Amino acid sequence: MPTRTDRGEADLASLPLREDLRGRTPYGAPQSGRAGVGAAVQLNVNENPYPPSPELVADLVAAVAVAAGTLNRYPDREALDLRADLAAYLSARTGVALDVPRLWAANGSNEVLQQVCQAFGGPGRVALGFEPSYSMHPLLAAGTNTGWVSERRAEDFTLSAADAVTAVERHRPAVTFLTTPNNPTGTVTGLDVVDAVCEATPGVVVVDEAYAEFAAAPSAVTLLERHPRLLVSRTMSKAFALAGARVGYLAASPAVVDALRLVRLPYHLSALTQAAARVALAHTEELLGTVEAVKAERDRMVREIRAGGLTVVPTEANFLLFGRFERPAEIWQALLDRGVLVRDVSAGPGLAGWLRVNAGTPAETSLFLSALREVTA
Ligand SMILES: *Cc1c(COP(=O)(O)O)cnc(C)c1O
Repeated sequence: MPTRTDRGEADLASLPLREDLRGRTPYGAPQSGRAGVGAAVQLNVNENPYPPSPELVADLVAAVAVAAGTLNRYPDREALDLRADLAAYLSARTGVALDVPRLWAANGSNEVLQQVCQAFGGPGRVALGFEPSYSMHPLLAAGTNTGWVSERRAEDFTLSAADAVTAVERHRPAVTFLTTPNNPTGTVTGLDVVDAVCEATPGVVVVDEAYAEFAAAPSAVTLLERHPRLLVSRTMSKAFALAGARVGYLAASPAVVDALRLVRLPYHLSALTQAAARVALAHTEELLGTVEAVKAERDRMVREIRAGGLTVVPTEANFLLFGRFERPAEIWQALLDRGVLVRDVSAGPGLAGWLRVNAGTPAETSLFLSALREVTA
């Protein structure tokens, strides 16, 4: 079974905790080396397996040293330089002209999405998701006292414009989440769906594009001009290989960005984070240079897992869903016993029997594949 950190339920029961938080479980992917989980190969949280190069590390250290010299001062509250760099990056990637008023940044896209729930959700409002999808979306809704409603994706985990519009008309959500490529399924949602949802909803539409750099599909950024209530969130945690720095961002209309400024904490993005993110963006070519290698390993995993007789859901992300297993928890444990940590998502809605694994280096991927062959032999 997945190792869980001790929740200290007895202690929580004695606290004047919000009623709606009682009995809830914190987000908890097991972390290797912590909570009793030891694995040589960690393929469970969709990280990029390639650490920064020595040159990038040197540039990071130099920039952080400069920032450290003024740490007695608060950082740029508006993160203007970083947002300009992000605008330039996203414009170059998508061909859509973007500027600072249309860009927002925070500590991981999770913080961006939390700010979206704070600004546009809240008591008496609901957020809508299409499950199975990213498990943090309902948790962020819960934390901001936003109601959560969900509809199921099709059997093959796709989502049609007609079904999405029906759901929006049924629930009248203040916030709609569309994740593409979707986590944990890897499936892509077409821009026709985004377009139709934006037309149908009175609320805001968040397209969570955490894995966009791995996908061939076009970005929803190309629809921003048409839809003032469309928000596209991105992260430096995945393709950019910068999960430890905690940098996420969003592109939207200037009015949406102004709304997020109402709820963000003052100086939420530290001077060290801003400096590190700018250095990483200056090394975009090197960092995104790993994307093709990661995709090649992903495609090798798809081929070999299928050759072994299992099912793999078509994926455009850096991970894949494979199965289905009678007892996924036992497969998860057997892989861990062989030093490979994958993600047991099988308890999630519509995910019975499935496990998720992300692409690693060629050596890591090979270790996973041989462990899987052993386990399923
Ligand atoms: C990993 C992931 C994120 C990224 O979160 P960060 O806070 O930026 O690290 C966001 N959305 C989805 C769907 C993800 O899988």
